[in-house]
Amino acid sequence: MEGLAKFPPRPTGAGEMFQLFRNGAPRTRASLVAETGQSRSTVAARIDALRSVGLLAPAGEATSTGGRPPSTFAFDPGGRIALGVDLGATHARIAVTDLAGVPIAQVDEPLAIADGPDPVLAWVAETGRKLVTQAGRRMDELAGVGIGLPGPVDHGTGRPVNPPIMPGWGGVDVPAELYARLGAPVLVDNDVNIMALGEHRTMAPDVDDLLFVKVATGIGAGVIMDGQLRRGAQGAAGDLGHVTVPGAGDIPCRCGNNGCLEAVAGGAAIAARLRAAGASVGTTQDIVDLVRSGDVAAGQAVRQAGRDIGSVLAASVSLLNPARIVVGGILAGAGEHLMAGIREVVYQRSLPLATRDLRITPSEAGAQAGVVGAATLVIEQYLAPSSVDTLIAAKEVM
Ligand SMILES: [Zn+2]
Repeated sequence: MEGLAKFPPRPTGAGEMFQLFRNGAPRTRASLVAETGQSRSTVAARIDALRSVGLLAPAGEATSTGGRPPSTFAFDPGGRIALGVDLGATHARIAVTDLAGVPIAQVDEPLAIADGPDPVLAWVAETGRKLVTQAGRRMDELAGVGIGLPGPVDHGTGRPVNPPIMPGWGGVDVPAELYARLGAPVLVDNDVNIMALGEHRTMAPDVDDLLFVKVATGIGAGVIMDGQLRRGAQGAAGDLGHVTVPGAGDIPCRCGNNGCLEAVAGGAAIAARLRAAGASVGTTQDIVDLVRSGDVAAGQAVRQAGRDIGSVLAASVSLLNPARIVVGGILAGAGEHLMAGIREVVYQRSLPLATRDLRITPSEAGAQAGVVGAATLVIEQYLAPSSVDTLIAAKEVM
C-alpha cells in the first residue's frame, strides 16, 4: 500500500538526520537529500548545525562522477567522552570512551562494594577524574557517567533497591551523589543489563533479539528485544536467579524462597556441593580453575548447573523467542561443560520453531562488556535525536 510505504517516517530534524551517521559510514549532501527527501538547502543547514556541535566532521571527498568531487561528512566520535563504570562485588572497572564507545583509558582494581556508598563513590569520582586527565581530555568534555551496580536498581530513580550484597546502598541517590562529585549526568543500571548492552552493541549489533545470561556467584539476565534493552516496569526484568527450578525441592535461597535457580546452579551452590564431596573450593573462580584442570566431578557439577539454567531458559525462549542466548559471567569461563548443559535442555524443552535459528554462545566481549555497556547507556542518551536537537538549540542561543 502506498501510504504504508512511507513508514518508518523519514528523518525530520537535524537530530533525526544525525542517526543516519551513527553506523560510521560517510555521506555526501546529495546522498542525504536522497535518503531524507529534504531539500538540498535544508540538508546543508543541518550538516552545518551538526558540525557546530562537533558531531560531524569532513571525511574527504567522494569519488567523482564527473566535475568537482563532492565533500563527504562522517560522525566524529572524538568530540565528547563518556565514563563507563562497572562495579562488582569485589572489583571495579572504569573506562573513558569516545562517543563510539571505544575505550581511550581504563583502570581495573579490587574494590569492595560492601565498604558502602561514601568510600566507593568517592573512589569512582577520583579515579574517573584521573582517567579523564590520563586520556588527555577535560571534564567539561564529559557527556555523562554510566554506572552498573551488582544489585537491583529502580530504573526511574537510579536508586538500588534492597541490594543483598551491597550493605548501606539501599535507596541511595547514586545519580545525585555522583553528579555532585563529577558535574555530569549520571545513569545507573544493574550490572547484568550493562553487560547485555555492551555485548550486544560490540559483538552482536545485528541480532535484534538477544538474552544475555550472567552465570557467576549469582545468576541474572539482560533482555534485548528489537535492539533495545528492556527493563520492564521497575527495572527488574531478567531476574532469572530467583525463578524456581523444576524438581529442585527445598534448597533454601537467600531471598527466602526455596529451589531458586541461583540456590541450585549459582557459583556458591556449586562450590558448596563440591566442598561437601571433599574438594577444596572457595570462590566461583576456584570452580573454573578446577574444571579447567580436568577435574571430573567439577566438570559434572558445572554441566548439571548448565542443565538447571537451561530448564529456566527454556521457558524464557518460549516467552521471548530470542535469536541468540549469550552466556557470560565467571562460570562461563569453565568452557564447554556449562554451555553443553544449557544447550542440552534448551533445545530439548523448547518448540522447534523457537529454536530453529537459536544460537547459544559464550560471551565474546568478556570482562569488557560491563564498562562498554555503561558508557553506551550515556552515549545513546546523548546522541538521541531530541538530545542532539537540544544541543543545537543551546548552541544557537549562545
Ligand atoms: Zn531466591
